[in-house]
Amino acid sequence: MMEGIRDTQPILHLDGVVKRYGEFAAVKGVDLEVGRGEIFGFLGPNGAGKTTTIRMIAGILRPSGGRLLVGGDDVVRAPARAKRRIGYIPDRPFLYEKLSGGEFLRFVAALWGREGPEVEERIRNFLSLFSLTEWEHELIESYSHGMRQKLLISSALLHDPELIVVDEPMVGLDPRSARILKDLLRSFVERGGTVFLSTHTLEVAEALCDRIAIISEGQIIAQGTMAELRTQADAGEAHLEEIFLKVTGGSEVADLMDALEGALERRTSAERRGSERRAEAE
Ligand code: ATP
Repeated sequence: MMEGIRDTQPILHLDGVVKRYGEFAAVKGVDLEVGRGEIFGFLGPNGAGKTTTIRMIAGILRPSGGRLLVGGDDVVRAPARAKRRIGYIPDRPFLYEKLSGGEFLRFVAALWGREGPEVEERIRNFLSLFSLTEWEHELIESYSHGMRQKLLISSALLHDPELIVVDEPMVGLDPRSARILKDLLRSFVERGGTVFLSTHTLEVAEALCDRIAIISEGQIIAQGTMAELRTQADAGEAHLEEIFLKVTGGSEVADLMDALEGALERRTSAERRGSERRAEAE
């Protein structure tokens, strides 16, 4: 019965979350709910507040205000319980260069209190999945960026999290590894897990996500399924076309178009005034 009640709870709940760095507010009151079994995309331009929000969810940054609940556990008040539910894959990984890939994975498993044949098999499976088997005994310092990323993904999944929180998952991965990661995330949600991922590319969000929230300057400016966002765009609500341009890195183009349109309007009216004056003189 209790389980039933618990399962209807969102796996992730953000309530008025604020993060200030000194005077500057990077996140300005974010509300979000993510249900179990969803792939939820957090989309926004550079500097919008994605990484800051994700680091608060992962319990690395302390919020300046609001509440973050993971499976009902408050990340500030019950950090150990909340963190156990999460597999966090950061955008800027930290790995111990002087450990081999295999040693690193065993070290992470041990931090979660896991060792023995079951974890050995999981490690073998991850290494094989990401074509790292041959590299198991090589030092991480010799790994490429993509190999590090794959090792990090494996390490984040070792303790069977309920929620994967991943910051810019596709950066640095070759097409094959990006495909494996997509398949991995999909099969994770099919088995009841949930994924919260940040990206600034609409393509990644579109290809993977069930629902999307768009963040800009620390605030959620649109939220829904891709179809819902499109309908809003077609209906001209919330200026979604502009939002999409902005989030797909087209803001400079949009600004340029605005400036050009403005210049054109000014020129047209100047020409109009000029011809009116000429007409008056004649
Ligand atoms: P990107 O797509 O470029 O990774 P983002 O959406 O993840 O961007 P954040 O890294 O969360 O954005 O940054 C949000 C804002 O907070 C930015 O203006 C950034 O300069 C600022 N910021 C981030 N970390 C700090 C910090 N430690 N001190 C001061 N300001 C910070």
